[in-house]
Amino acid sequence: MVEVIVKELTSGVNLVGTYYGDVELNMVYVKGSGVLLDTATIGIIEDVVNAIGLPKVAIVTHPHEDHAGGSAYLANRGVKVIAHDVARGFLYSNLVNVDSFFPLRYRRCFDQELVESLIKDFRAKIGSPVIHESFRGVLRINGVECLEAFGHTSGTVVCIANGVMFTSDAVQGSGIRGSKVTDSIPQVSSIDDYLNTLNMLKSISVKMLVPGHNYLPPAKRVLEGDEIKEFINTSMNSINKLLNLGRLILEERPMTICEFASELIREYGVKRGLYLQALITAEAILKYYRRRGLLRVIKEGDVALYAIR
Ligand SMILES: [Zn+2]
Repeated sequence: MVEVIVKELTSGVNLVGTYYGDVELNMVYVKGSGVLLDTATIGIIEDVVNAIGLPKVAIVTHPHEDHAGGSAYLANRGVKVIAHDVARGFLYSNLVNVDSFFPLRYRRCFDQELVESLIKDFRAKIGSPVIHESFRGVLRINGVECLEAFGHTSGTVVCIANGVMFTSDAVQGSGIRGSKVTDSIPQVSSIDDYLNTLNMLKSISVKMLVPGHNYLPPAKRVLEGDEIKEFINTSMNSINKLLNLGRLILEERPMTICEFASELIREYGVKRGLYLQALITAEAILKYYRRRGLLRVIKEGDVALYAIR
């Protein structure tokens, strides 16, 4: 059993706070209309339902195991599950849903046994997802409005209900920092999409913001007032920091993406060795520079080296 904290934020809108390993995991439950935002993992969702009751509708913000993993459990109990149609596409593809969490083509950066065990773990937590309905653009349902907010993954959405915005992993501040296991850079699969999302969210004014995890700053489950602006600004600055570090690293010498990702997280200050999801952000940075004509790719047989021109 995992601890579940339920707290009313604005009228009828509740924070549902729990834990995913050594990281905080947040959801939002709009009690009046029975809409739950995100579904946690297979292992956590039952404790959530015990704490809040059975929702009528669940909206999955993106296809990662700690947000989409409870979809089958909820569907089995008669809850209607909705996601963006791109997220549904990922969730229904066994191969791709692993890919959006770790690009399989980079498995050679890691010990094979580690990769196998993490993929197994990911699949166990996400199960066989069920999405009954999908949408593109804007979803409006029972007083909840969800908007496309790509960047963390394609198909990521943020949802707003009665002055509370749930950003899940769409906005990541400076990453999850200082946790024993999960010290991380922001995980972004498209830098351009992520920056567009941050700019879009800047123009929306809300009373409170609930991030998906304890992203800094201020690593609180609920942000209010200036904390909201600070969180979005820090997210922007963190991406600029990663882009600058990436450029400096790639100006030094041509290197593989494995080396690049290792250098990137070390320079950023992450206190652990290379981890799988760091490859997603590293690849997004390479794409960002390639799109701008700045990346040099040197291929020799199966190996690709990357450098800035
Ligand atoms: Zn995620």
